[in-house]
Amino acid sequence: MSAVHTVAPSPVGTRTLSGRRLAALVRERCGDEQLAHDVDVVARILPFKVSGHVVDELIDWSRAPDDPLYRLVFPHRDMVTPDQYTAVERALASPGALRAAVAEVRRQLNPHPGDQLTRNVPHGPDGSPVDGLQHKYARTVLVFPRQGQTCHSYCAYCFRWAQFVGEPDLRMADDGPAAMTAYLRRHPEVTDVLFTGGDPLVMRAEMLRPYVDALLAPGLEHVVTVRIGTKAPLFHPARLTAAPDAPALLRLLERVVAAGRHLAVMLHISHPRELAPDTTRAALAALRGTGAQLRSQAPVIRHVNDSAETWAESWRVQVALGVHPYYLFVERDTGAQRYFGLPLHRAYEIHRDAVEALSGLGRTARGPVMSTTEGKVIVDGVTELPGGERAFALRYLQARESGLVGRPFHAHWDAQAQWWSQLRPLGSYDRRFFPGADREGGP
Ligand code: SF4
Repeated sequence: MSAVHTVAPSPVGTRTLSGRRLAALVRERCGDEQLAHDVDVVARILPFKVSGHVVDELIDWSRAPDDPLYRLVFPHRDMVTPDQYTAVERALASPGALRAAVAEVRRQLNPHPGDQLTRNVPHGPDGSPVDGLQHKYARTVLVFPRQGQTCHSYCAYCFRWAQFVGEPDLRMADDGPAAMTAYLRRHPEVTDVLFTGGDPLVMRAEMLRPYVDALLAPGLEHVVTVRIGTKAPLFHPARLTAAPDAPALLRLLERVVAAGRHLAVMLHISHPRELAPDTTRAALAALRGTGAQLRSQAPVIRHVNDSAETWAESWRVQVALGVHPYYLFVERDTGAQRYFGLPLHRAYEIHRDAVEALSGLGRTARGPVMSTTEGKVIVDGVTELPGGERAFALRYLQARESGLVGRPFHAHWDAQAQWWSQLRPLGSYDRRFFPGADREGGP
């Protein structure tokens, strides 16, 4: 399949662009000085990085800045408030003032939504935190390998953006597999380990191998599923097809399957055009060839994929390529939410209408789902109560308090609400489903 862009100055090729080079590229490709300046300012606040594959194969430069793939990865001034933009722009001339202005704006952008650092990090027998792990739900542990805390490109909406801004206090990362192994030995209830980040497939195979060896060693047989969260086939498919250690990586994944474990590759797929390049299709085929099951997830976001047609097309193609649609998420309350966020009722309509256009095998994505401090809450619909009042019908798919899972509850209808913290329980029965309300500033 050929590239979609119509304006093709020199290709970026295998390079990755970030910082000032993004502004230079926008200046060169779009010829818009103000747009390039905005890119420069906003890229001081949030992390941006774009792979050559995204620049050369995915973005339609003739439609930039309105092209959805451009919007997915490039800075835009509307990602921050006018005050935040001005504060950083005014500080550009002074490195000290710039550092302070950027730090303050980042603090305002809720760098760790869902109390990730305070409530998800587990503790060892001596009470000290186990760095680089998160254990929110009983059966699943998240592992953040230190060398995997970056991605081939950054999605501008990423809720893990604080991982990428170079501030150690905002970063989750482990010190190798030993802590993971020790923790899992103490927790036989854990059945799933998710390697996440960042993108663990930025790691060389030899760096990933000790983690796999540790999981397959005697004593951790209770870990039956190994998940890897990645966007590599979409952002840098050569990682799985042409990189020098691509064969070694694929052999490593095969070993997981050969050991009798379920290997789940959790793909982050934002737009159907990401699935078009032949290189991406080859990368997906290579992953499937290891015996891995491929699943997909992504948030529904303004400017990129805010239509039922886009999702229906994406899920249709995914099924044809052997990918199981898994989650449609709601944009989280962090970073550039003001730019990407949608009202919950709109997210629900998009999911409903997309599913309606597909056969049963394309209807497997649960959504829209809010990954909140207390758990994963699905918006099942908008219901009309006796008396005519409208309400959101909600349900926990996962919860810290397992007794909340699967029981329907309601919140008052709110046409503007974009996130959990903006919802109010409908009645006294529903209040028990909002246990984190005080912490999240909710009802
Ligand atoms: S690939 Fe995932 S972790 Fe990386 S920037 Fe995108 S959403 Fe964030």
